[in-house]
Amino acid sequence: MKKTKIAMALSILILTALVLTSCEVHFGNNRAYVQWYVIAVPVIVFVIACLVIAGVVLSKNTYVCPECGKRFHPKWYRAMLTPHINSDRVLKCPHCGKKSLCRKED
Ligand SMILES: [Zn+2]
Repeated sequence: MKKTKIAMALSILILTALVLTSCEVHFGNNRAYVQWYVIAVPVIVFVIACLVIAGVVLSKNTYVCPECGKRFHPKWYRAMLTPHINSDRVLKCPHCGKKSLCRKED
């Protein structure tokens, strides 16, 4: 399950980087060819940085478990890629261990 999520995230990152890669740069009337990694590596680094920043910011929020009603802060790496509806996220409660759609507390 965990390896599947990591593989899926890496696939999305690589596909995004390849789609955004043109390998041909137009600067005025000049045209130059660049290696694919010159564009892909910064894109991948940027996407990973955005995900990590989002995860750290989201882990500061307090979530309420619908099963046991206890409050908790998720780990940054879980908050980063978990499915969500608006501000509610599917998280595993550290108290009861059940995975459910947890409401964000204001
Ligand atoms: Zn719970």
